Amino acid sequence: MEEIILVKNGELALKGLNRSGFEDVLIKNLKRRLRAFGEFEYKKSQSTIMIIPVGDCDMDKASDAVGKVFGIAAYTRSASVEKNMDVILESAPDYLKDILEEAETFKVNAKRSDKAFPYKSPEISALLGGKLLEKFRHLSVDVHSPDVTVTVEIRDEKAFIHADQIKGAGGMPVGTGGKAALLISGGIDSPVAGYMMAKRGITLTAIHFASPPFTSVQAEEKVHALLRQVAKYSGHIHLITVGFTEIQQEIRRKCPEPLFTLIMRRFMMRIADRLAQADNCAALITGESVGQVASQTIYALGCTDAVTTLPVFRPLIGMDKDEIISVSRKIETFDISIQPFEDCCTVFTPKHPRTRPNVKMLEEAETALDVEGLIGSALENIKILEIEA
Ligand code: ATP
Ligand code: MG
Repeated sequence: MEEIILVKNGELALKGLNRSGFEDVLIKNLKRRLRAFGEFEYKKSQSTIMIIPVGDCDMDKASDAVGKVFGIAAYTRSASVEKNMDVILESAPDYLKDILEEAETFKVNAKRSDKAFPYKSPEISALLGGKLLEKFRHLSVDVHSPDVTVTVEIRDEKAFIHADQIKGAGGMPVGTGGKAALLISGGIDSPVAGYMMAKRGITLTAIHFASPPFTSVQAEEKVHALLRQVAKYSGHIHLITVGFTEIQQEIRRKCPEPLFTLIMRRFMMRIADRLAQADNCAALITGESVGQVASQTIYALGCTDAVTTLPVFRPLIGMDKDEIISVSRKIETFDISIQPFEDCCTVFTPKHPRTRPNVKMLEEAETALDVEGLIGSALENIKILEIEA
């Protein structure tokens, strides 16, 4: 019996004229994500995408991967059989055996989009319901809250038989919303911020600042591991790693300690702004949340925004730490984030940071530095890595 994956589009259905373009992007993303698990054919029909294996495919892995692709409301593995009532009655008990043996109650939901099929929906339900009761003696019908809803879809080419759909990753297909640059540390927050923007259809470029030898090779590898996990949702990520040691040393040598973190953050934003523009990104993304640390008061955020030309998106801005952690557990970045490698922020943290800074005091402190010269040499000291899931 042939098995396929049926994918129901999410918000796509709302997009009217753009719908077909959105579907094409979604299919392109699915193809990239599934190619490691075998060869598949893709067909669009009535806000559904059919993923049909050609030859030997790893359907378990393919189905898991589909669950992480944005732009999908729901999906399910499904038997794909000839549009013939006898074949349907024969195949359904066989295909759904495992799931029905576990269940106590069920109902059948028949959908007939091919009106030429000789049985109407209620007839299909009644016939298949009877057959399943006969085959699985322990089952009873519950039309209100069944353990399993068996669905039969009679479509143009084939009949599809499946159990309940699985909720998809939601959101919009990555690539439909433009591109933005995620400032990623090794912490808990920034990978979650990247995931949230990718969910809205944004393609991610990542920028990471490393300060060797104060930060280790493992700290950089941790960022790679985080991005590989985020890429399971966002697809391919272009990573730019910037050498930041000289800037941090200069700040420490020449600026007042309470402003260290903020001046450092302003350098990150200036450099990220330029790299992002050169890479055609329309915005910056950070993992900041109001009040979480001294450098994230609304005054401090105003001071970091003052040096960028691109808009800065902070999708976690109103979230509590425990809410952020619960997303990071869901997307499985949490265990990577809590590995104990020092980040460049933690290496130079001041004892008494200013919580109510203003732009003027920062600009004054920065007159001690050759800001443009430092940015220029940082921009020459970058490494590129292409990250795939
Ligand atoms: P995170 O958990 O993402 O590290 P955080 O709450 O620890 O966030 P900070 O360390 O103050 O906050 O950093 C604030 C934001 O600045 C991060 O979310 C990230 O977007 C960016 N950032 C911090 N350090 C770096 C770095 N080394 N490279 C790139 N971006 C960074
Ligand atoms: Mg951090």
